Amino acid sequence: MTVKTETKTYLNYINGEWVPSSSQHVYESINPANKNEIVGYVQKSTQEDLDRAVDAAKKTQLIWRNLSSPARGEYLYKVANSLEKNIDEIAETMTKEMGKTFVEAKGETARGVAILRYFAGEGMRKVGDVIPSTESQALMFTTRVPLGVVGVISPWNFPVAIPIWKIAPAIVYGNTVVLKPAQETSVTAARVIECFHEAGLPGGVVNMVTGPGSVIGQGIIDHPDIHGITFTGSDQVGKRVGQGALARGAKYQLEMGGKNPVIVAEDADLDLAVEATISGGLRSTGQKCTATSRVIVQKTVYNEFKEKLLSKVKEIKVGNGLNSDTWMGPCSSESQLNTVLSYIQKGWDEGATLLHGGNRYEVEELKNGFFVQPTIFENVNSSMAIAQEEIFGPVLVLIKVENIEEALHIANDVQFGLSASIFTSNIGNMLSFIDNMEAGLIRINAESAGVELQAPFGGMKQSSSHSREQGQAAIEFFTSIKTVFVKP
Ligand code: NAP
Ligand code: MG
Repeated sequence: MTVKTETKTYLNYINGEWVPSSSQHVYESINPANKNEIVGYVQKSTQEDLDRAVDAAKKTQLIWRNLSSPARGEYLYKVANSLEKNIDEIAETMTKEMGKTFVEAKGETARGVAILRYFAGEGMRKVGDVIPSTESQALMFTTRVPLGVVGVISPWNFPVAIPIWKIAPAIVYGNTVVLKPAQETSVTAARVIECFHEAGLPGGVVNMVTGPGSVIGQGIIDHPDIHGITFTGSDQVGKRVGQGALARGAKYQLEMGGKNPVIVAEDADLDLAVEATISGGLRSTGQKCTATSRVIVQKTVYNEFKEKLLSKVKEIKVGNGLNSDTWMGPCSSESQLNTVLSYIQKGWDEGATLLHGGNRYEVEELKNGFFVQPTIFENVNSSMAIAQEEIFGPVLVLIKVENIEEALHIANDVQFGLSASIFTSNIGNMLSFIDNMEAGLIRINAESAGVELQAPFGGMKQSSSHSREQGQAAIEFFTSIKTVFVKP
C-alpha cells in the first residue's frame, strides 16, 4: 500500500519562477525508512529545461555582477532568515527523503543558515592586493571577477549544506547559478530554493533543474555557457565532470570519496576514541564523505578497545529518523543498501571476521525500509576491498598494528585522502600524524567527520581536484584573479 502523506509535485525553478519540465514527466522521491511513502514528485527534466535555466542565468549575470558584493550579501542574509524560519519543516523533509535522523537534519539545516550568514559577510571583505611595480608611478594590483554562470552538481548525503556551501559563495562573488541536485533529495533541494525565492533574489540568479545525472548533470558538463562547475559526489562521476570541463576549458572543482581512518594509539583515551569511532563511523548511517571507515588500533590496547566498541555498538537504536529515540536511520536508497550488503558479503568472502551486525533488518517495523545493522569486521588486512573501497554505509573494519609507524603506513595505503584522525596523548605521534598523514582534514583526538564552515574543506589524492571549498578558500574557485597595471 502506498501512503500518500505529502504528495506534492515540485517544479523546476527558472528565472525566478516555478515551472514544470517540458518532458511533462515526474519521478517520485521515496522515504527510505518506508519505501511505500512518497515524499513528493519531482520534475524529470530535459536538456531543453537546462538550456532555459542556463539562458536565464546568463541573461541575469551582468545585472547581478554589477551589484556591489555587500548588496549581494544582503540577499544572503535574507535567505538565511527564511531557512531559519522553516528549519523544522525542511529538516523533517530531509529526514523523510534521505533518512538521517531529525536531530542531524536540523543540525545540518542550522549549518546552512550559518554558511549563508558567513558568505553574506564575505561580501564585505577585500578581494585583492596592491603589489609594488618596478616601474615608477605605476599602480599594480589584483582584483577578482566572477566566472559567469556556475553549474552546481550535488549529492544526496548533505542535501541542504552542500548546495548552500556552493551557491552562497558563487552568488556573493557575482556568479549566477544552475543547481542540479541529486535525484534522491530533490524535494529537500526544492525546499531550500524556496528560501532563495522568498528572499527576493532577482530572477535568474539561482535556478534549479531536477532530473537524471546522465541528462542534466551531463548537460551541465557540456554546456558552452557554463563557465564553472562545482561537483560533490562519487569519484567515478567526478572524474567525468573534470574531464568534460577540461575538454572545453571550463573551471571545475571536485570533492569526492573517502576511506577515512582513525588511528588509536596505545596512549589514547580509549573511551573517547570509542565514542568518536562510533559517532564518526555510524552517524548518518556512515553516509558522510568524512565518515570513519577504517579503525587502526595498536595491538597493546586492541582487545580492550574492541570490547568497549562492541558494548557501545550494541546500544545503538536503529529506526525511522523521525522517532526521537532513533540514533541511526536507514541507508538512503535501495541501491545504497545493496551496495552495503554486497561489501559485507565481500568482507566474508575475503576472510574477514564479522564481529557485529552484517544483515538487513527483517522485523516488521523496519522491513519496508532500507535498514542495515551497524557492522564491524576484524582480522582485516589493508588489501581487502572492505579496507580499500568507499562503502558509504555503517561498516567499520578493525585493523591491528604493532606501532604508530605501521598505523600511518596503513592509514595512507588507500587512493583517497579526505579526512583522518588519531587518538593519542603523545605529542610526537601528533606531530608525525600532521606531517605524514595524506589527508586534507587532520583531526587529533576528534572524530574524522566534522567540518567548520569558516575553514577550508577538501581532500588530497583521489578525494578531490585539490581545490578547497568553504571559508575564505571558496573565493579561489568562484572568481578569477585579474592582475592590473596602471600607468597614469
Ligand atoms: P554521485 O552518484 O556521484 O552523484 C552526485 C551527483 O552527480 C548527483 O547529482 C548525480 O545525479 C550526478 N550525476 C550522476 N551521473 C552523472 C553524470 N553522468 N554526469 C553528471 N552528473 C552526474 O554521488 P552520490 O551517490 O550522490 O553521493 C555519494 C558520494 O558523494 C560518495 O562518494 C561521497 O563520498 C561523496 N561525497 C563527497 C563529499 C566531499 O566533500 N568530499 C561530500 C559528500 C559526499 P543523480 O542523483 O541523478 O544520480
Ligand atoms: Mg529518497
